[in-house]
Amino acid sequence: MIRQTRYIALALALLFILPASLFVYRELRSLNEFENTLGELYKRQLDAVLYSVNQYSQDLTDSWVNRLENNGGANDFFFQNTPAVAQVFIADSLTDPAPKQYGPESLVSTLQATTLFIEQQKTLRRLAGYLEANYRKLEPVSLQGLAGAQGILFLINKAEDKPRPCLIVVDANIFIGTDLRPRMDLLAEDDFDLFVWKKGDKEPVCATDTVSDINILERKPLWLLPDYEMAINLRGNNLGAIVRERSSGSLGLILGLNVLLLLGVIWLYRTINKEIQLAQTRSDFVANVSHEIRTPLSLISMFAETLMLQRVPNEERRDTYYRIIFQESRRLTGLVNKILNFSQMEAGQRKYQMEDVDLNELAAEVWEAYQFHLSQQGFESSINLYDGEIIIHADREAVSEAIVNLLDNAVKYSPSVKNIIIKTNISYKTCWLEVKDQGMGIPPDQVNRIFEKFHRVATGPVHNTKGTGLGLTLVKRIMDAHEGNVEVDSTVGKGSSFRLVFKKG
Ligand code: ADP
Repeated sequence: MIRQTRYIALALALLFILPASLFVYRELRSLNEFENTLGELYKRQLDAVLYSVNQYSQDLTDSWVNRLENNGGANDFFFQNTPAVAQVFIADSLTDPAPKQYGPESLVSTLQATTLFIEQQKTLRRLAGYLEANYRKLEPVSLQGLAGAQGILFLINKAEDKPRPCLIVVDANIFIGTDLRPRMDLLAEDDFDLFVWKKGDKEPVCATDTVSDINILERKPLWLLPDYEMAINLRGNNLGAIVRERSSGSLGLILGLNVLLLLGVIWLYRTINKEIQLAQTRSDFVANVSHEIRTPLSLISMFAETLMLQRVPNEERRDTYYRIIFQESRRLTGLVNKILNFSQMEAGQRKYQMEDVDLNELAAEVWEAYQFHLSQQGFESSINLYDGEIIIHADREAVSEAIVNLLDNAVKYSPSVKNIIIKTNISYKTCWLEVKDQGMGIPPDQVNRIFEKFHRVATGPVHNTKGTGLGLTLVKRIMDAHEGNVEVDSTVGKGSSFRLVFKKG
């Protein structure tokens, strides 16, 4: 039986739990992969947006450089058109770094520009190398001590001229606020927020929207303004939150389904287990009943044959044989009646003839009828009745049957101390009849199960006692039909008392 149950548990695990776990594992993995892929795609998109801002600022400065190159310097018109450019310094050649200054000498003096050209000789030579390869590179340089200003170093060489070092002094705030801002607005549209920060500052210099909770996903330096960096943010819910929301939703669903599946499996397991147990008790029942029938039948046929063949030595023996035949046939009748009553009850066909009955009178009647049997089995029995009438509304025959079943059990399960007391009494709204023995008692974990059909305590000395497992089921059903109750009080090794509790009539 235990082996069978184990097989079922294993089969259920293999059939349901294993595929479900594999499914969950796969789903979680793909969810994770999906989150990563989406995150990666999104990051690339943000990178592309930031790249295009940088590219735009590069194009812008390229156009300044071209104009400076074509004009051979900067005029008023140049400064009017490019408010972000504060000053321009152009030297004659790499070897003659003394530059000519264009624009007001407000930020960087000519001397400072000369020093810078000398200091940056290495860079200028590198730029010259690029230029020879037909590629003009712009090199941002920091202007120490000038807050908000940024230098851009490059070389110009118009026609056959030698390369001339050139420095543009850019007002970073104007460049970001006037030149980059429109482009940023265009790129951001309704989907993103773009920000530019001066490194180390808390507040952005420029933002496409005023957001209080800045949840930055990507930061990139501005190529031409190394002291500044750009950042981008998804407007509204950020991607992480969207993916997390989706993941937790799917996860919740998967977990919920799994819990349901698990509950289903537990339920299925329990039901199958119950069915197996019932099948087992049913087959035990058939074996028990066959056994119970076979014993009286063989006794009856044996003694009947002896009588028939007139092999009885004396009259006394003859009487004993007759009595045995009578007793055994009564036992058989009782057994058959028990089974018939049970199947009638199972089919819901048992009818009860309710009338006012005195419980005291009924108890005394059953005890008297049973006393002979009790004393023959070596039992001492006594009856202790409530002093007065106890009227209940009951089916006389059914209640007698219940009491007889309790007495039968008291006899069957009292192997050593053979003492039975029948007692009646009343309490506030109820009255009861009790059959008390000093027999083997019932293990506590079995007390609630003894009323189940076919159930028998399978351990200890009970195992050797004959029975069908129907007696107490009948008692319980009879009491249910009387809107009453059966109460048990039992201690292993000390005895049991069964109480039939009725409503007062
Ligand atoms: P049966 O006696 O035919 O096995 P019952 O339904 O009458 O079936 O009883 C169910 C089980 O309850 C019995 O198998 C026995 O183990 C236990 N039982 C019933 N009455 C007593 C009792 N008076 N003392 C000890 N055990 C009892």
